[in-house]
Amino acid sequence: MKILVINAGSSSLKYQLIDMENESLLAKGLCERIGIDGRLTHKPQNGKPTYEADVPFPTHKEAIEAVLEKLTSKEYGVVDSMSEIGAVGHRVLHGGSEFTESCLVDEKCEEAIRRCFPLGPLHNPANLMGIKACQAVMPGTPQVAVFDTSFGMSMEPKAYMYAIPYEFYEKDSIRRYGFHGTSHRFVSARACEISGKPNTKVINCHLGNGSSVSASIDGKCVDTSMGLTPLAGLPMGTRSGDVDAAILQFLMNKYNYSVDQMLNILNKKSGVLGVSGVSSDFRDLESAAAEGNKHAQLALEKFCYETAKYVGAYAAAMNGVDMITFTAGVGENGIDTRARICAYLGFLGVTLDPEKNNSRGKEVEISTPDSKVRVFVIPTNEELMIARDTLALVTK
Ligand code: ADP
Repeated sequence: MKILVINAGSSSLKYQLIDMENESLLAKGLCERIGIDGRLTHKPQNGKPTYEADVPFPTHKEAIEAVLEKLTSKEYGVVDSMSEIGAVGHRVLHGGSEFTESCLVDEKCEEAIRRCFPLGPLHNPANLMGIKACQAVMPGTPQVAVFDTSFGMSMEPKAYMYAIPYEFYEKDSIRRYGFHGTSHRFVSARACEISGKPNTKVINCHLGNGSSVSASIDGKCVDTSMGLTPLAGLPMGTRSGDVDAAILQFLMNKYNYSVDQMLNILNKKSGVLGVSGVSSDFRDLESAAAEGNKHAQLALEKFCYETAKYVGAYAAAMNGVDMITFTAGVGENGIDTRARICAYLGFLGVTLDPEKNNSRGKEVEISTPDSKVRVFVIPTNEELMIARDTLALVTK
């Protein structure tokens, strides 16, 4: 079966068409500036040329129509007709506490996605727009919702509860949900497959523009660093990660910031960008640090230190760790970042092989044979995870 995977944002929509016979990518692309004007980039993987042009996208529906037109076109297509697309899998940010796993989209599922709008105000409405657009353009094709939060639903209350009055959990659903769940699920499942042992304890470091760490046993999440929102946990490209909540009060009083202004600082102007004053991009930071920029050096060191602290904490949470994995842009490519993080982890018996670590973007074991904890780079593939869930649900 061929499955279309959609990741709809408020003004953009990423897609991949995957052939599940051999899990191969047939085409991928991006619709941008939806509701503004519109631009489509479509990349067939069968040797046909890339299509890139302005296409009017008043709504997500026109964007999906254009994607389907390109997927089936003579010049840029990869399938003969739309009927070859057996199902659509959608990335949905927030499933609240209602979804422990992916689900076929029906009225109940749509209603639940809507109920989670307050928890994912930027993403959930856009995700639902993507679903509605596909329903309109591909009636009868089954749709599946895959939630970023469902991985975190196996956490115990001691991990997901905040130490604030219990009524806020009961009345307002305030708890740790965790994000990047589809990526953590993909990588930890692959780690368990490699290990082959039951109850493998994995700490996965998803280090990209957004970063999070998860602890899992046998692929089931025990703890994860993001919280009610993706602002928590590690310092990230532009997000602060964990801060003392009283800092907000201090700065808001002193500078007369509104809540929105304060949150904008924490979401968009903090993290390694805020500390370095240079960039949110790790490649820029590495160049600046190499040229002697002290703030860039501090930002990188802070990032590695905090990541290592989470790894240490999660080793305690699971009373041990069998495998540590690195994934996403920085995790897969940041040779120096991985080495620096692992340098803190000698107490766990981690020994890195610098030659094996000198690798980018592919699956590789980077620890020495006598390392007590095996360390791997495992490239993430959220789209494939979404397609696998979709296939499983539509062929059930
Ligand atoms: P997102 O969270 O937006 O999906 P990615 O997972 O693509 O982000 O990660 C983007 C980050 O990966 C950027 O900070 C980028 O600098 C970093 N990155 C990509 N390639 C390299 C590289 N070769 N060396 C170091 N960092 C890299």
